[in-house]
Amino acid sequence: MVDVIIIGGGTAGLTAAIFLQRSAMECLVIEAEEFGGRIFPTLAIDNYPGMPGISGYEFSEVLRGQASSLGANLIAASVESIKLNKDTWEVTAKDSIYTAKALIYAAGEKQRLLGVSGEIELLGRGVATCAACDGAFFRKQTVAIVGGGDKALDDAITLSRLCTRVHLIHRRDEFRAAGSTVLKMQQTPNIQQHLNTNIISINGSSRVESVSLSNTKGEETTLDVAGVFIAVGSIPQSTLCADFAQIDNEGYVIAGEDCKTSTPGFFVAGDVRKKPLRQLVTAAADGAVAATSAVEYIIHNK
Ligand code: NAP
Repeated sequence: MVDVIIIGGGTAGLTAAIFLQRSAMECLVIEAEEFGGRIFPTLAIDNYPGMPGISGYEFSEVLRGQASSLGANLIAASVESIKLNKDTWEVTAKDSIYTAKALIYAAGEKQRLLGVSGEIELLGRGVATCAACDGAFFRKQTVAIVGGGDKALDDAITLSRLCTRVHLIHRRDEFRAAGSTVLKMQQTPNIQQHLNTNIISINGSSRVESVSLSNTKGEETTLDVAGVFIAVGSIPQSTLCADFAQIDNEGYVIAGEDCKTSTPGFFVAGDVRKKPLRQLVTAAADGAVAATSAVEYIIHNK
């Protein structure tokens, strides 16, 4: 048995591991995909204090290395279930059961999809969710990207450097993205905006060939594109928490600023927690706070 199991090896989870190991608590971090989490594919991070322009890959690697060198045990596996047996947390992942005195849940969010016809069928065959990962497959071609947040606009700018033309499709005429990013996108000559417009289908037999659009005036058009990048936000990964914490109607886990939930010993950190700002810096802060709360809990329950 370890002191704390951390589910999720993104910024929140790995920061929690650093704080726990430095408090002489033994911890295990279980991550289903990339250590570093959703920041991993980001080309350049400009809003994490003290590290202007660091890539998501480098940030993730440094963070993972820091947690590991302090003694955290990092496991690549997908968690199947969480159980509380008296005072012991039991986590099942990849046919193994891991036990701990406390649990920090930091599983973050996953990419939201549009739910239009052709999207799932052509996923990986022209439909993509990460410009930094897949943009190079569309070099010198025309692509579409959908969304109006920071990710969509950042990705549109990334794609504009590789592709001949980028169609940015957004359902409103205002963007959620930072003003400076909107300006940069608008100054990029090969990005064409389609505002007040939705994708109604993604078309193609074996690969993406076109997208059908409909605007708020009811006008329909079709654009010939080789790829469609989906960047319409995220869905919190909170289903495994349902027995231990309250979940709001958008799926975020309710916990205090101390990251404590309604179940003693079960803490929530990072983007999966209900909070006003989801950024790298708040994920790191949550990890530190959750670890501190977990240490207090373990000492108090000795
Ligand atoms: P987001 O800010 O939630 O934006 C999602 C966008 O997708 C919104 O424009 C939304 O439109 C649109 N959308 C949602 N559902 C849709 C649907 N069914 N059909 C069409 N459009 C839909 O998500 P994000 O861009 O992934 O960013 C998530 C968080 O990470 C944000 O806090 C963001 O600031 C942060 N982030 C920061 C950076 C950076 O600082 N460089 C980079 C990436 C992400 P509406 O606006 O109409 O709702």
